[in-house]
Amino acid sequence: MERVNIFKNNTCPAVRLPKAVTYPGNVWQVDPVVQGMEKHPVWAYPPNSLPLPAAPLFFLDYDGTLAPIVDNPKAGYPHPDVPELLQRLSAEHPVYIVTGRHLRDLYALLPKTLILSAIGLHGAQEGCLHGEVQERLTDIDRQALATMRATVPDLKGVWVEDKKHMFAVHYRKAPEPAAARQSIKAWADKSPEVLMALWGKDVVELRPTHLHKGTAVTAVYDKYPEHTPIYLGDDVTDEDAFNALPDDAVTVKVGGGATAARFRLPDIEAVVVYLKRFTR
Ligand SMILES: [Mg+2]
Repeated sequence: MERVNIFKNNTCPAVRLPKAVTYPGNVWQVDPVVQGMEKHPVWAYPPNSLPLPAAPLFFLDYDGTLAPIVDNPKAGYPHPDVPELLQRLSAEHPVYIVTGRHLRDLYALLPKTLILSAIGLHGAQEGCLHGEVQERLTDIDRQALATMRATVPDLKGVWVEDKKHMFAVHYRKAPEPAAARQSIKAWADKSPEVLMALWGKDVVELRPTHLHKGTAVTAVYDKYPEHTPIYLGDDVTDEDAFNALPDDAVTVKVGGGATAARFRLPDIEAVVVYLKRFTR
């Protein structure tokens, strides 16, 4: 495979991991949500059959793609092979972590020596993990978020995850999730035009309409026109990126569910196998 060293063009410097890394996430915990995820053997590709572009530009979703989805987001450690894999990939190719999380929430989950480019809060943040981060919200966005945050339905089992400049309302633990969803939907429908409601797995997030993973990855891709984007993601929020990237991009949906992606991998293990093929 032809290797293109674009390190000099990357936003964040690649770093070498020290020889002995004490890393708390080296125990691979299989979350029930991931374990029970419906497999689609007919649709899912074996990881050794996906394309290997010579000059890849990686966009990697975090939760559900590099790390299992767990009830406590602070315990969302990646697959044990992921830290070294990211270090090796980023030494040779541009690599962006693309997450709905505040980037600071990932600091405790990945080694501090790993300085990667990253897009957080679905495109509202761009910068480096463990480095400088810029936030791109307008005053109108902030005002609309504050107004909606003050009126979240007060229901049993429903909790709000504040991400400073956007927030998520979780109802997985509500006694009657369907009824909770109905109340939350009525509330979300009243949000001003500058905000959009993004429905995930038993969660809705309110975020500025003009910022999403699609606009974020397009802005990055403009900096790397000679590269082929490779986007791996598992959730509905990744669909914006699948739709925004060019037709020859290697878009990969991780797990089940409808998707605009060209390819599908069954689970995180398959993601790791595929990404390792770029490091040989
Ligand atoms: Mg995800």
